[in-house]
Amino acid sequence: MTDLTYIKFLYESFRNIFFGDSIPESSMIDFKLSYMKDCLGYSMHKDVVNQDNENYHEIAITSAYALKESDIKSVLLHEMIHVWQYYCVSDNRYEKCSNFIAHDRVFKTKMACINAKLEEMCEDFRISVTAEMKNYFIIDDNKDDDKNDI
Ligand SMILES: [Zn+2]
Repeated sequence: MTDLTYIKFLYESFRNIFFGDSIPESSMIDFKLSYMKDCLGYSMHKDVVNQDNENYHEIAITSAYALKESDIKSVLLHEMIHVWQYYCVSDNRYEKCSNFIAHDRVFKTKMACINAKLEEMCEDFRISVTAEMKNYFIIDDNKDDDKNDI
């Protein structure tokens, strides 16, 4: 089971190594685990927050799949690039590129830089633009239901 404390710890460490502390610190991000089958993670960026304890950025990682530690790191870094796009890329480029086309040249260039660094560091994972869901094992969402063969 993935836990949020670990994800926050990874975020801080990646923030320093790959983004030179240029993106918001973990206390400014709402981290969530969500049961999603169609994606491994997402990030959301708001211009306005309504609730007192709500942050401007949200990063969610799926709890529907049995993700390996390397998968979690890869998904988190992918979503962190979106935070970076929102926060650091000028000319509202992220806005222009949103609606499912945020994986533009800027995203891919940053991803390639991070992947090169991961290789240098001899890490066993890389970031990708999309994930093939069939490569991951689904965690049964009906585990609390009584299953009768009638
Ligand atoms: Zn993305």
